[in-house]
Amino acid sequence: MVRFTVLASGSKGNATVLSGGRTRILVDCGLSCRELFRRMRQVGEEPETLDAILITHEHSDHVGGVAVTARKLGIPVYFTEGTHRAWMRWISPRRQMTYAQWLERIRKQATERQAEADVAAEEGDPDEGDVVEAAETSQEAAEPVEPVKAKDPTWLPAVEYFQAGEPFEIGDIAISSFTIPHDAADPVGFVFQAEGVRIGFATDLGYIPPNVKAQLKELDLLLLESNHDLEMLRDGPYPWAVKQRVLSRVGHLSNEAAAEFLEKGYDGQAAYVILAHLSESNNLPDLARVTAERALIGRASLMANRLLLAEQNEPLFPIDF
Ligand SMILES: [Zn+2]
Ligand SMILES: [Zn+2]
Repeated sequence: MVRFTVLASGSKGNATVLSGGRTRILVDCGLSCRELFRRMRQVGEEPETLDAILITHEHSDHVGGVAVTARKLGIPVYFTEGTHRAWMRWISPRRQMTYAQWLERIRKQATERQAEADVAAEEGDPDEGDVVEAAETSQEAAEPVEPVKAKDPTWLPAVEYFQAGEPFEIGDIAISSFTIPHDAADPVGFVFQAEGVRIGFATDLGYIPPNVKAQLKELDLLLLESNHDLEMLRDGPYPWAVKQRVLSRVGHLSNEAAAEFLEKGYDGQAAYVILAHLSESNNLPDLARVTAERALIGRASLMANRLLLAEQNEPLFPIDF
């Protein structure tokens, strides 16, 4: 049996469980580990049976809980190399610095400035002398801080790389990944295949380029972003720069763009179409649904597609094949 369960979808966290054959994977891990486990149990899935985590891109709504979850379950995380590197940069830099490390850095900088000043002018004044003294003291005080560095926030039980466009497998699930236009290091969408069932997965994309259109064919289930209503976004609360980002070709897919694809670019073969990653500020579930329905009604052949909406706060019911 193939089972597909969206646990959460939207800018506050994304996570989906897919099982096929004897394999069970988590696609994106944007919920906290605790909330992820709670929602999995709510839909009758045991977190301990997950075999791997697969990541689309490094934005926090897709990776926020990945380190804690992977460590807790002792399972590998699949990334593209670009996404893994971007994730490591995101979680390891200065935000992880302890106060003692920060103090050490500030004092080192003061020492360097002092050294430069000493070169520039031979005569020092008493205040500058104090700074040097403080820096020396901090060098000693900093020593016990060293072990903190060993606690690496980027550590994962295992990391597996895949390349966008290169097919690979996790257990019984065959996976094709494809590049999507989005403002992340190396973002991807997926087509999963297990037991003859094909599932397309495409969120966080500014538009649907030909390579994505070509992938989203002959599917049994299509999960597609329907992020915002264009008018609501234009008139909504976001600052101008954020509106520009969402609307750009590396932003998010509007209801209108999703509908245009359903009307003109899609072969209509899926039994289920799930609209996903709906914005809470710039969309309404009814607007997304009506816009997509209108597109499907435009082509009578697509009416057999069952239209569902993925939610931010509640899991969608499990879909079985
Ligand atoms: Zn997202
Ligand atoms: Zn994103």
